[in-house]
Amino acid sequence: METLKKLEVWFATGSQHLYGPETLKQVAENSQAIVNGLNKSGLIPVNVIFKPVLTTPDAINTICLEANNAPNCIGLITWMHTFSPAKMWIAGLKVLQKPFVHLHTQFNRDIPWDSIDMDFMNLNQAAHGDREFGFICSRMGKKRKVVVGHWQDESIQKKIGIWTRAASAWHDAQGGKIARFGDNMREVAVTEGDKVEAQIRFGYSVNGYGVGELVNEINLIGSSEIDKLVSEYENKYVVAAEAKKGGAKYENLRETAKIELGMRSFLEKGGFKAFTTTFEDLHGLKQLPGLAVQRLMADGYGFGAEGDWKTSALVRAMKVMSTGLKGGTSFMEDYTYHMNPAGMKVLGAHMLEVCESIAESKPKLEVHKLGIGGKDDPPRLVFGVPSGPALNATILDMGNRFRMVVNEVTVVPPEKPLPKLPVARAMWIPKPNLEIGAGAWILAGGAHHTGFSQAITSEYMEDFAEIANIEFLLIDDSTKISEFKKELRWNELYYQLSCR
Ligand code: MN
Repeated sequence: METLKKLEVWFATGSQHLYGPETLKQVAENSQAIVNGLNKSGLIPVNVIFKPVLTTPDAINTICLEANNAPNCIGLITWMHTFSPAKMWIAGLKVLQKPFVHLHTQFNRDIPWDSIDMDFMNLNQAAHGDREFGFICSRMGKKRKVVVGHWQDESIQKKIGIWTRAASAWHDAQGGKIARFGDNMREVAVTEGDKVEAQIRFGYSVNGYGVGELVNEINLIGSSEIDKLVSEYENKYVVAAEAKKGGAKYENLRETAKIELGMRSFLEKGGFKAFTTTFEDLHGLKQLPGLAVQRLMADGYGFGAEGDWKTSALVRAMKVMSTGLKGGTSFMEDYTYHMNPAGMKVLGAHMLEVCESIAESKPKLEVHKLGIGGKDDPPRLVFGVPSGPALNATILDMGNRFRMVVNEVTVVPPEKPLPKLPVARAMWIPKPNLEIGAGAWILAGGAHHTGFSQAITSEYMEDFAEIANIEFLLIDDSTKISEFKKELRWNELYYQLSCR
């Protein structure tokens, strides 16, 4: 994945002319100091760009229009150092198409008890200036994150950093292209949805390509390229005997390398950021792509199996958000349960396609039979996932809106080694426990496919959902089924009435 450093968030400070040039000079200096502090924090992955202090409706309108048109600008950080009468912001906010975070801070952390006078009070008025700004945002129904606290506080910088990562994922989705090889798995409901509405809402386009086009690309791959990639596999993974040269499945591995190279070439030529496959449409392919998908995901591509383009786009967004962070992100599926009342948990996996970014150690490369699809035995990476906090996220098309559901989970080691399980696997306990976690998930209509991440938290997902202006439901330690049901009922009503 490319770094996020080439992206910019613009720091827009609001004020007015009432206080005179001396005060405005000080406002500009203080804002510049905050920008420098944020850039030096190491917690914000994009460049924070200082913009001249805004004191007129025209200046505000201009900066909003400029932000819309700046290709690397992911959004604004807004802050009212002094009072900034908010009617000045109406025209700008009306045209602003980039997301923004409202930083409710002030330059000084502490009140200077001995020296405070009215000049100081007039200069440092965010406490009421930001309330005036908040009013106009709420009055206009503007979606935004509000971050409250001193700008030098690490936890505040971290919150801004999280928002900039969500805004970067949003930026990435605008004009993003998703390729579908084949359609949905037949008769499946949850992976369906309105692709036109998704493009209007999220900014990415989803288009189908005949598997034959992919096969053509695969057939262009020569044997020297295959040799090179197979040796990369041998260096990077613990290759099982059957997949080594002279082994019974060596040709399957070479075919896999060919599929990976062809798929990569197809996706690169088309400028795609995410893709789907389906085992029901493999015409001309000798295997269901397994290892290829695992490795493409590790390089930042979004993926959804069985034609699941919503999850593919979600995994891509989560990968952008997690750029450079510790921990991996993968396509995942709730597969089977351990229902022992002493400790109920989920075994998550997929037929093949789990991203190696979540592997706890060097993955094993094995070749096994695949019961469905009717194709040759596909090679795949087999590994476990490190213990610790993680999340599962899903996006659903509810007919009149998109809904995101996030369940915080704790990854735990399997109780025993699972020697016969031929796929990558993760074991987790949903929060607050499997009974309530899975119960709430099912009441919300959450899918069996998810984006799984050990790099990002539910705050990232909530920020992303806020920017996308979609429904967001969190299942965490505080979830109670009776309260969750009420939230679902109230949201149902809200989305019938809301035109925002
Ligand atoms: Mn599946």
